[in-house]
Amino acid sequence: MTAGIIDGKVHAERVRAEVAAEVAELRAKHGLQPGLAVVLVGDDPASQVYVKSKGEHSLAVGMHSVTHRLPADTQQGELLRLVADLNADPLIHGILVQLPLPKHLDEKAVIAAIDPDKDVDGLHVVNAGRLVAGLPALVACTPTGCLIMLKATLGDLTGKRAVVVGRSLLVGKPVAQLLLAEDCTVTMAHSRTRDLPAVCREADILVAAVGRPRMIRGDWIKPGACVIDVGINRVPFDDPIKAAEGRTKLVGDVHYKEALQVAGSITPVPGGVGLMTVAVLLQNTVTAAKRQAGIEA
Ligand code: NDP
Repeated sequence: MTAGIIDGKVHAERVRAEVAAEVAELRAKHGLQPGLAVVLVGDDPASQVYVKSKGEHSLAVGMHSVTHRLPADTQQGELLRLVADLNADPLIHGILVQLPLPKHLDEKAVIAAIDPDKDVDGLHVVNAGRLVAGLPALVACTPTGCLIMLKATLGDLTGKRAVVVGRSLLVGKPVAQLLLAEDCTVTMAHSRTRDLPAVCREADILVAAVGRPRMIRGDWIKPGACVIDVGINRVPFDDPIKAAEGRTKLVGDVHYKEALQVAGSITPVPGGVGLMTVAVLLQNTVTAAKRQAGIEA
């Protein structure tokens, strides 16, 4: 048996098409154009690529899109003033400050300054709290992307045994909360978990968000399980000639080749979860715009 591939491109395209249709309807029926502001401080090459992609995708679905590019030596006060201006701007419904920020800036304070109702990255503690309390929240984009793919693949998740490896605020904790809200029985595993392979083998749904290349081996996976690999790790090529040339590639936290022989379905890396993140960001911006305008989903 070979696992079915959960294609992030297909799911992301579907979400973006749904968002575009919803934006068109909001503009036609309510004169409301969801607006996203992305803030980039400094010139980190990877962040520049992400920010460009976020701007392009938001324009492509018909949103109002603004990108603020600030120099690397921007001071905390200037950044907080920009966030305050965006909080007050009625044309902006979602604010995303691209992380990581340069070392001299206080990331936590910047996130805390974002209006929770405009926090489309879902990183504000108010949104984390709302998620735990079962209240309408803006949920971090990557975890929501995982849930969308799981539901599209498995349908109803009620009663399934889910194991989430990793407990970060960005991924592991919100994924676990989302699965709990779907009535899964959830175990959160981390670096201190005893006998992690045995814990993983109990999972009908295994979510890996660790940041360790190919850590989860094929014999850690229950036959037929659905495996969501969030990890993005850069490693040298297996081919020694390419590796000697210093060439690298991206792999997940799951040993993909081994997992393919055991799992029922699996997300590849690249081409899986990573592609969902921007699509969900657009979806969150529409949700934020509707809530701010008093139009409930
Ligand atoms: P963090 O480093 O914040 O968290 C990693 C988690 O993994 C921690 O909870 C840690 O446990 C746990 N962990 C570390 N080593 C082990 C181990 N040996 N066994 C079990 N658990 C372990 O990472 P993030 O959550 O931010 O990201 C995880 C991965 O997901 C990364 O590869 C990242 O690049 C990727 N990512 C991908 C995104 C996407 O769009 N696809 C978006 C965000 C992240 P402990 O708490 O005990 O230290």
